Amino acid sequence: MTEALPTYRIYAIRYAAQPQRREGETFLGGDHGKWIPGLDFFTWAIEGGGRTIVVDTGFTRETNERRPGRDWLFRPKEGLARVGIDAAKVEEVILTHAHFDHVGALDDYPNATFWMPDREMHSITGRDMTHPFFRVAYEAEDVCDLVRLAHRGRMRFYDGDGEYAPGIRWHLIGGHARGQMALSVWTERGWVILASDAVHLYEETQKERPFSIFHDLQAMIEGYRRLNAMAATPDHLIPGHDPLVTQRFPAAAPDLEGVVVRLDLAPSA
Ligand SMILES: [Zn+2]
Repeated sequence: MTEALPTYRIYAIRYAAQPQRREGETFLGGDHGKWIPGLDFFTWAIEGGGRTIVVDTGFTRETNERRPGRDWLFRPKEGLARVGIDAAKVEEVILTHAHFDHVGALDDYPNATFWMPDREMHSITGRDMTHPFFRVAYEAEDVCDLVRLAHRGRMRFYDGDGEYAPGIRWHLIGGHARGQMALSVWTERGWVILASDAVHLYEETQKERPFSIFHDLQAMIEGYRRLNAMAATPDHLIPGHDPLVTQRFPAAAPDLEGVVVRLDLAPSA
């Protein structure tokens, strides 16, 4: 049956990086005295079957200045342009959750319809945000932009598990954020799971080490197991922030080493 599905290309665009991070800031129960490699920040794009879909829009230089500690490399739309995608012409954007590093620069996509998890919209406009622990990774300005998109008729909602298009499925994981989604995308190497922040780092699913920012700890760690079970191999599960992703997967072009990699192609050994 899967033979009839379009095979997609998946680009991971690394637009920001955090060179170092305390282990205790990264993993629940981690050592606050120990420094470990930090996080990379990505926008993803899916191309195939006649469509171009952007997954999460990253953050802006302005947000980076308000939240120091990361190196902002370029505006995510500039990375899209490097692989021939004009953000202004993109018609489909899927948002996996609404943390600041996933929903900035929304006005770079003036022709897009944005897909938003129902539970995430509920979370960011209601009671959850009265808790400092739950709102720590959200920007009020982003939330207002998302509300405006809904009122302008440019937002669609998704929930549970379902099919976005032939060969693109969504999975409600929750845990890290109330509405956290992961996507499965059909490629020439089979189903590739874009975990987004259901998994930040390979170590979370490989050692069951919980990430330190979460909405529901139990849902997050059950999500690790569910994603492990869904993935054909560990290489088919792509964490949302691991610096190993750009090291393991082939560059989209010789001059894009460390900038844009192809997740639909097999990683190097
Ligand atoms: Zn993130």
